[in-house]
Amino acid sequence: MSRAGGQPDPLPPDRLAIECRFLRRTIISGRLDGPVATLCQHPVRDGFDCVGPFMEDLPTACRLWEQRGR
Ligand code: SF4
Repeated sequence: MSRAGGQPDPLPPDRLAIECRFLRRTIISGRLDGPVATLCQHPVRDGFDCVGPFMEDLPTACRLWEQRGR
């Protein structure tokens, strides 16, 4: 989605990948990028790495994101 004039909508600042209900954090030994894995369990991406990011308070651009229940 975009605003008039072709500018993309800004990402909602509270959509953090770490708070996505489909995120599963686990340890998988032997991964080339380290043992800590952040896997997606959304039916569309199930088993793939989450797109993140997992830095500071940067929101995710993932359109599948949903808030984890609290
Ligand atoms: S890829 Fe998207 S839907 Fe999957 S865990 Fe990450 S933010 Fe959530």
